[in-house]
Amino acid sequence: MNTYIVVGSVLLLWIAGGFYRRRKNRNKVIYVDKNNCVGCRRCVKRCTRRVLEMAEDEAGKRAVVKYPDKCSACGDCRRKCKFDALKLIERS
Ligand code: SF4
Ligand code: SF4
Repeated sequence: MNTYIVVGSVLLLWIAGGFYRRRKNRNKVIYVDKNNCVGCRRCVKRCTRRVLEMAEDEAGKRAVVKYPDKCSACGDCRRKCKFDALKLIERS
């Protein structure tokens, strides 16, 4: 019985946390700092909305925000980036 209460509480907190993050970030969008990006692709693989893509410039392969309108600002890609290259910024 106690196990059900603990699991239920954790689940509720997780769902509430998701709603809170979405509400807090609803006017935000992901931004790639090209100076920090090393092109590891971790963020591209993580984003289920396919907002990010890889692109090549003179400095090599980098992540770019291809479809900003599809970004929910969930922050999942940020948590995957080990190089502090992703930020949530205000939508312009
Ligand atoms: S996870 Fe970070 S370093 Fe890797 S491609 Fe994405 S933005 Fe660049
Ligand atoms: S914040 Fe979420 S939706 Fe936006 S690019 Fe990152 S993983 Fe995709």
